[in-house]
Amino acid sequence: MNGLAISILVVEDEAQIRKFLRLSLEANNYIVHEARLGEVGLELCATEKPNLVILDLGLPDMDGKQFIMRLREWSGIPIIVLSVRADEVQKVAALDAGANDYVTKPFGISELMARIRVVIRDHGEPVSTQATFDSKGLRIDYAAREVSVDGHIVHLTKKEYELIRLLVDAPGQVLTHQQILRQVWGPAQQNETHYLRVLVGQLRNKLGDDPSNPRFIITVQGVGYRLAIPIALQGSQ
Ligand code: CA
Repeated sequence: MNGLAISILVVEDEAQIRKFLRLSLEANNYIVHEARLGEVGLELCATEKPNLVILDLGLPDMDGKQFIMRLREWSGIPIIVLSVRADEVQKVAALDAGANDYVTKPFGISELMARIRVVIRDHGEPVSTQATFDSKGLRIDYAAREVSVDGHIVHLTKKEYELIRLLVDAPGQVLTHQQILRQVWGPAQQNETHYLRVLVGQLRNKLGDDPSNPRFIITVQGVGYRLAIPIALQGSQ
């Protein structure tokens, strides 16, 4: 697929199945991340941003439906559920909660691979088709992860870069404190609004943005932040 590596997160508590999936997926050139627990899986969704999640419905720390509902609060990453044959009700509940497809255990690897291809084709978010963002003197080169303001390169930390990307990817849309915290820090930190305040301050400083007369980042009091966008872009979303 465009020569881009596709990464898959396997959330499964049985070590043997995890190992089997890792070997099979890697043999098909996928990058594999693994989690034994749901909590860890949710963290990895935020930090590794996999293209797809393969989820066992019976986990030690939460049931699969819970996992899906929590993930769907902030992410549309496609999910394929691994269910046990007798678990019709659980399977339907998983689909209702937002899973994209399911495979019944025991499953054949070729069946699973076919499901993965279909789900990625239908639901995989296209990697940004534009190579740069350019507006009001703010320029972002996505491939180089390079940000400049009025032609001057600004050196951002990883989190500062992630924050500006989030805002730029949703032009004009208000992103709540929790949405940003989950995306940049992970679900466990979603209530640490002071982290975000500090980060926004740093980013504004580096971009030379004045919060009382914002050129790039607008504070939505008590709610979150949004990108200040030129009139021409408004309503075109
Ligand atoms: Ca299990």
